[in-house]
Amino acid sequence: MRYDALVIGAGLSGLAAGIRLGMYGKQALLLERHALWGGLNSFYRLRGRRHDVGLHALTNATSARTGVLSRVLRQLRIPREALQLGPQLRSVIRFSDLEVWFSNDPALLESELAAAFPARRDALATLSAEIANWVPEARPMPFASARAELLRRLGDERLVDVLLLPTCYYGSPLENDIDWTQFRILYQSLFLEGIARPRGGIRTLLTALKTRLEACGTELRTNCGVERILLDGARAVGVRLDDGSELFADHVLSSAGLDETLALCGRKPEPDPARRDLSFLESIHALDCTPAALGLDAAVAFYCLADRLCYAQNEAPTEPRCGVLSCPGNYADQEPEAAVLVRQTVIANPQRWRELVARGDEEYRAAKLEHSARAAAAAASLFPDWRAHTLDLDVFTPRTIEHYTGHVNGRVYGSPDKRQDGDIGFEGLRLIGTDQGYLGIVGAMMSGIGIVNRHVLAAAAESAP
Ligand SMILES: Cc1cc2nc3c(=O)[nH]c(=O)nc-3n(C[C@H](O)[C@H](O)[C@H](O)COP(=O)(O)OP(=O)(O)OC[C@H]3O[C@@H](n4cnc5c(N)ncnc54)[C@H](O)[C@@H]3O)c2cc1C
Repeated sequence: MRYDALVIGAGLSGLAAGIRLGMYGKQALLLERHALWGGLNSFYRLRGRRHDVGLHALTNATSARTGVLSRVLRQLRIPREALQLGPQLRSVIRFSDLEVWFSNDPALLESELAAAFPARRDALATLSAEIANWVPEARPMPFASARAELLRRLGDERLVDVLLLPTCYYGSPLENDIDWTQFRILYQSLFLEGIARPRGGIRTLLTALKTRLEACGTELRTNCGVERILLDGARAVGVRLDDGSELFADHVLSSAGLDETLALCGRKPEPDPARRDLSFLESIHALDCTPAALGLDAAVAFYCLADRLCYAQNEAPTEPRCGVLSCPGNYADQEPEAAVLVRQTVIANPQRWRELVARGDEEYRAAKLEHSARAAAAAASLFPDWRAHTLDLDVFTPRTIEHYTGHVNGRVYGSPDKRQDGDIGFEGLRLIGTDQGYLGIVGAMMSGIGIVNRHVLAAAAESAP
């Protein structure tokens, strides 16, 4: 059978693309190498507890019709109520000598920043208004350093670090900087449109997407990896699966990532020797009480113990001085099971973890515990110490992320080379997801929808008699 479209990967971008294709009567098939869907944002059960792989916060949570999440849900015909969103109570950006709180009311961030940096009050207000009115360009934009742009507007390195800490952690593949376009998207997503958590975690969102996918008649095949993208000259015509069978289609959409998709086309990516891949070590602590009972009352806490931002690789397997704490219980209306969790995320060095894996299971497991303990001990100098309350702990590393998503080096935010039009040089093939340039859960869904609208549905409309 010939398909209208084959979609590689059933992460958030692939699921959204599949729904959109099905809604318009396209014969589409989602191909997912793993047993579960969700990709970087999947779920699992361990020792009787349900965990999310990657959910800290759903961005763009505003219920305004113009909000990005509202637009995504309308495009997918998913009612907002299906997500059971609980807004954050409040969150914090903390360095050893300053803290800035924010909530879903952007006025709190503005007043906190103005209080911490009174000399920059006017420049901050101008920046906030500029970003609020900014609309991302439809055409691909060249990279520009957010650090340089912010420094030019605000003139204060420390204030720039405060703004880069959360935005780097929620979307940058670069060390201590982020692309200016991505910064503005993330600033709007996090600070202006606000964050929330679905009651039930990522399963609630994934269930809503999967139910809708099935209702639209799009098939999802799990345990079904794509080994190669089939080319006819410079045109993608189908895929070869891990079992050797071949499928053909007019369009192939890939959420595997830029370098990974080029490799599927038989092209060797050319890594930039100056660039170091960033990945995460993530620890999930289940406590004997809620974190709020210990005074850990932020929904998300972005922190840095060093004087300057250190969102960067360390020669050691992890960089414990800078990270994120995420407490699902500090959102409104959450399930009791999640209310006792603290997730801690720090930067990890993929190469060091590769070496640890090579030394065998025992050393790898011991290193996971050691680096998780180092990260928790470091955070205890800035936050209430929760360690004595940990009943259960699970830790994952760049190796886990690479194994479950196929992303080289466990890269969470993909390649710095984003392709806004999804074009990687082959007709009939488009990137969707992180490397198309829209970040996070909501961005990934938007990417899947946008590429289908522009390159599959519009193409079909143009060729209609
Ligand atoms: C620890 C962590 C925390 C995060 N926290 C948040 C958060 O709080 N909020 C937020 O908005 N975002 C968060 N993110 C980011 C978010 O998860 C991603 O931006 C988003 O899920 C990316 O979706 P995607 O569809 O682009 O790609 P992916 O989720 O990577 O999906 C790609 C899919 O393709 C499959 N695949 C790859 N190659 C093949 C192949 N050859 N054949 C078949 N299948 C293949 C993979 O198995 C995978 O399922 C987090 C990520 C991590 C890792």
